[in-house]
Amino acid sequence: MDYTNENGWHSPRIIPYQPLTLDPAAMIYHYGQTVFEGLKAYRTDDDRVLLFRPEQNFKRLNLSSDRLSIPDIDTDIVLDYLNELVKLDKEWIPTYEGTSLYIRPFIIATEPNLSVAPSASYKFMIILSPVGSYYKEGIAPVGIYVEDEYTRAALGGTGMAKTAGNYSAAYKAQDKATAHGQAQVLWLDSSEKKYIEEVGSMNVFFKIDGEIVTPALSGSILEGITRKSIIELLKSWDLPVSERKISIDEVLLAIQENRLEEAFGTGTAAVISPIGELSWKGEQSLINNRETGPLAARLYETLTGIQKGRIEDSLNWTYEVK
Ligand code: PMP
Repeated sequence: MDYTNENGWHSPRIIPYQPLTLDPAAMIYHYGQTVFEGLKAYRTDDDRVLLFRPEQNFKRLNLSSDRLSIPDIDTDIVLDYLNELVKLDKEWIPTYEGTSLYIRPFIIATEPNLSVAPSASYKFMIILSPVGSYYKEGIAPVGIYVEDEYTRAALGGTGMAKTAGNYSAAYKAQDKATAHGQAQVLWLDSSEKKYIEEVGSMNVFFKIDGEIVTPALSGSILEGITRKSIIELLKSWDLPVSERKISIDEVLLAIQENRLEEAFGTGTAAVISPIGELSWKGEQSLINNRETGPLAARLYETLTGIQKGRIEDSLNWTYEVK
């Protein structure tokens, strides 16, 4: 689908995957005016195809677009086209446990213009790709490295938007995490480097003294759809869940005093990723003895069960492709 200032969004169409020709002066190459989304289609045991809360992805895409001065898309039109596209590709959706069809909607600025201003034209595209299981041998805890030099997103910046610059700005810190033998970065807030924001490409939850805590949306945290779903699920189970500020000191103290029962990340890729180790200023601490806790396991089973159509979808989250 294309956008021009004169005609708005127009010409939605489904075409075979192919290279894209863009003018070298296209504004996306120079100023990063782009937004994207990530979601998955799952094939159920009885051969139906389910998307998980796709309307939430398109709502978030528009939120990101607004921050990047990109015009809104009509979410109903886009969802209808996505439905047709996934239906066409149904046979490409793998069925093996943990696999799915990854869906990447994105918008790029296409106007050939070297001046610094919003583009007068855009392209919205959706690409699809089968993806393997995130966990090769069952759900397993990862280690995280607390980053105290770089920040993922500054308050007032683009952190709440799913836009390219937030991701390339994170590579240096990810390199440091890898060099320290940890899988993911734990990000702190940009002003005080004190409060926890999120983990790599996941939101984060801690269970301390029975309370399940996730950082309140600060304006620089990505509003994860899995995060939102986990909060709703926990509330439906009558478990105490709060969205509030949580400092790295509070987490370290809880680890020291054996009050941190579990920690896990949430996101489309892994669904739930237990956190088994935390590395902070050269010191390593184990969380839950590097084992998957019962809460993370229950959430993983429930969410993947709903996504694969095995568990009743009482919260009305799935969209059946027909
Ligand atoms: N934070 C960041 C920075 C991410 O890239 C993602 C993945 N989209 C998430 C959190 C989790 O969001 P979601 O649950 O919508 O996948």
